[in-house]
Amino acid sequence: MKTQLLKDEILEAMSLKRQYGVFNTNMMFLLDDKDKKLVEEFQGLCLEKEEQINGIHGHNNEDHYNWFEWAGKHGLINRTNNYPHRDDLEIGMKAEILRQWTMDIFDPQFSLSLGASVLCINPIAHHHEGRETLLKDLRDLLDGKKIGCICITEPERGSDAVNMLVKAEKADDGGLILNGIKCYNTNSPVADIAAVYAVYNTDDPRGTMIQGISHADWNKGFKAERIGIPSVPKVKIGKTIFEDAHIPPDYITGDDGKGYEILFEGLVPERIGIAALNVGQMWGAFSLAALYSTVRQQFGEKILRHQAVGMSVLAKYHGRLTDITMALLRLAETYDTKKEELAGIPATMNPLVAMASQMKEYSSLLYHELAYECMHAMGGTGVTDQTKMPHYQGVSEIAEVVGGTRNVQLLIGSRTINTMIKMI
Ligand SMILES: Cc1cc2nc3c(=O)[nH]c(=O)nc-3n(C[C@H](O)[C@H](O)[C@H](O)COP(=O)(O)OP(=O)(O)OC[C@H]3O[C@@H](n4cnc5c(N)ncnc54)[C@H](O)[C@@H]3O)c2cc1C
Repeated sequence: MKTQLLKDEILEAMSLKRQYGVFNTNMMFLLDDKDKKLVEEFQGLCLEKEEQINGIHGHNNEDHYNWFEWAGKHGLINRTNNYPHRDDLEIGMKAEILRQWTMDIFDPQFSLSLGASVLCINPIAHHHEGRETLLKDLRDLLDGKKIGCICITEPERGSDAVNMLVKAEKADDGGLILNGIKCYNTNSPVADIAAVYAVYNTDDPRGTMIQGISHADWNKGFKAERIGIPSVPKVKIGKTIFEDAHIPPDYITGDDGKGYEILFEGLVPERIGIAALNVGQMWGAFSLAALYSTVRQQFGEKILRHQAVGMSVLAKYHGRLTDITMALLRLAETYDTKKEELAGIPATMNPLVAMASQMKEYSSLLYHELAYECMHAMGGTGVTDQTKMPHYQGVSEIAEVVGGTRNVQLLIGSRTINTMIKMI
């Protein structure tokens, strides 16, 4: 922080430990003992790290890409995919959400970067087919030794992502040659490994889409330039350029239209993941405002006691946040129990696709509203660099667009209603 305005005891009242305390109190009746133990384990690791980075100074100033290895070592990058080299970790969507919430409260921009690396992990975990090259990538990404990114969006193809223009051609060695530009790829300027989509024929993207894995060190035709996104200044987001970029045969995860299936298969966990990120970061913003409201006094009273703060902001958003937290936990349980059963069902018929989109759309708007309200419930303190509130508020500004805007989610929703009526 540039200059400390608040007394030490007020800053201490908003420590990470106390933020986790607010979260844990709310989870008391929502989680079983096993889940609570897992949360405690995750939180213990983050509290150690908090001390090591010197709290807010580290969150404001350290390069969080240097924390990947620490997170990977402790299984804090991903909990939905099995680790090929470790079997001592709790795996599943529920475990993933609890991991995510812990990281979101700890450092919202770091959590966003971890999430983008997970989007590179997912297709490799499901489509390595025992190949050692890809298994090594999977181990390195899960361990945080390598940073990943996903390249779907293009300068001219955003919401209409399927109709992509980046071209793939078959190479003489059975691999691929890629040409074109992707953009908004979280982590790509620092990523070691990129999962990338392209098409052989732009007139038939569904039938000809590929997915491949590219490495920054050996792929000379792969480069990325950082673009500026002021809301998340610590996250490196890129314009990613493919110029005769070669993907060897061993690194093709989906060929001849299989890339399209992988793209859609990835959207459900991606959108549940973003919804989880929104909810976790809402707990971060809410906990800071709630803690501050009990230590800050104006007109001779805690600001919590002023109805405009205590009722119109804190109680109102506490209720909405609790509701969406319960809904997301239920969705995670449904995903864990039904995902195999629903795996082969087309996207338009798969209820998980609709539920993931609905949850992503609603949680993004709620996060934006809640972060703004909680920030201003803290007055001037809310906008200073003395707490992580501006970090939560920053991520809340991009929550809508990451993973597809509200209109794309609502488009999926309207198609779901059509299918639902046909099923009656
Ligand atoms: C911070 C950040 C991180 C990102 N990370 C990644 C990443 O890691 N990898 C990646 O590949 N991409 C990433 N993206 C890209 C993101 O997925 C796209 O920005 C998003 O899908 C929207 O595309 P667009 O920006 O081109 O907007 P456009 O598609 O141009 O949309 C502009 C407006 O038109 C509306 N619109 C578009 N189509 C329709 C329609 N059919 N009906 C109604 N309204 C419509 C949209 O809702 C929006 O309001 C990221 C973006 C940001 C900002």
